[in-house]
Amino acid sequence: MSYQRPKGTADLLPGEIEKWQFIEETARLLFSDYQYQEIRTPMFEHIEVITRSVGDTSDIVTKEMYDFYDKGNRHITLRPEGTAPVVRSFVENKLFGPEYTKPYKVYYTGPMFRYERPQKGRLRQFHQIGVEAFGSENPATDVETMMMALAYFEQLGMSEFHLVINSLGDPETRQNYRQALIDYLTPLKDELSEDSQRRLNENPLRVLDSKDKRDKQFVADAPSILDYLSEPAKKHFDEVVAMLDALEVPYQIDSNMVRGLDYYTHTIFEIMSDAKGLGAQNTLCAGGRYNQLVAELGGPETPGFGFAIGMERVLLVLEAEGVELPTSHQLDAYVVNLGEVVNLEALKVVQKIRQAGFSADRDVLNRKAKGQFKTADRLNATLVLTLGESELESGMINVKAMATRKEIQVPLTAIYEDFGAVYDQMTKEEGE
Ligand code: ATP
Ligand code: MG
Repeated sequence: MSYQRPKGTADLLPGEIEKWQFIEETARLLFSDYQYQEIRTPMFEHIEVITRSVGDTSDIVTKEMYDFYDKGNRHITLRPEGTAPVVRSFVENKLFGPEYTKPYKVYYTGPMFRYERPQKGRLRQFHQIGVEAFGSENPATDVETMMMALAYFEQLGMSEFHLVINSLGDPETRQNYRQALIDYLTPLKDELSEDSQRRLNENPLRVLDSKDKRDKQFVADAPSILDYLSEPAKKHFDEVVAMLDALEVPYQIDSNMVRGLDYYTHTIFEIMSDAKGLGAQNTLCAGGRYNQLVAELGGPETPGFGFAIGMERVLLVLEAEGVELPTSHQLDAYVVNLGEVVNLEALKVVQKIRQAGFSADRDVLNRKAKGQFKTADRLNATLVLTLGESELESGMINVKAMATRKEIQVPLTAIYEDFGAVYDQMTKEEGE
């Protein structure tokens, strides 16, 4: 019992891991085309980094943190999300300095930790790929970043997803809207869920994010934040919308959408999958603008825009949509070796092949020929080289191309001197 993995975690095994590598690699290539560079921050942080950024009343801070005191009595938490740590790093390393390109654009990938009720697409250790762009207030940054996220899902082969946007405005907007929301919700207070009654006092905007069924009814009729946007906030949002239109990017506006994190300002967005069978866990990507966060963590006023993608959900959606991903890796050569006398020569052969830049493996268990051929098959080997006592004596080795069944004998020296030529000869199509 105690030797089982903790609840809400997963072992990513060979066979499955190839899919992870593929979706990560696709992100790396795409994001680097957009001039994002990778950043790696620690898996744990001083808790203030998170509480200060994400907000004291957020679900993450009130319920979901993996926090503890270390042996030096420091209050530490495993990171529940990627933005706050990256902003902390941006400030601490003075990445706003004149020697750095502006906007400063980074992406990250790795595990995040939240103590929540595990379900399909909801884990306690889950994985995100996210990006942050620092230093641009331009609505074009909002639009190109959202388009990059959309392009990612397209490149992976998804087709059923949609973009939802909203604006949370600036501090002036928030203040006006907060009061309107309190006025609307206070008479309904007794009918709200317990959580939302508490949220109403602490941070009424959070009520909009409630997952409770009854709360959702009231939320549907709540005043719209878009009616409370200050003039600069309205201008920013109108420009984002106009740019999306001009680039013919389909989107929906949901004025009741808020995000679980306090740091957002202006544009926020989610990309949701419409594939069947995902339940409530259909949000693939979430993000937006955070113009106050860098200053909040002690840096100079610097606008930011970013998003995070949930990788487990990406894989669930790809499966639900029936998208085929690479699963097996390929082997160039397998060396079948028969009898202990050829053990050393087999070692030489397999090493020479690897040194020539090909993938290769061999039997090391002294198995019978049949077992070794079976392994070669399972590994999907392109060539099988067979080395026995008689081959060793004559200095030859048998080479077979598994696809065509073509078979030849070549001198061992040919393998040692130019395996590439042997490989080409065996894999070239007839008549070419
Ligand atoms: P939700 O409303 O589903 O709890 P969230 O608002 O807490 O999501 P964010 O903090 O915005 O999520 O994280 C961005 C993305 O990371 C989500 O859209 C989702 O794809 C993924 N994600 C968040 N929490 C989890 C989790 N516990 N397990 C798996 N993926 C997650
Ligand atoms: Mg959540």
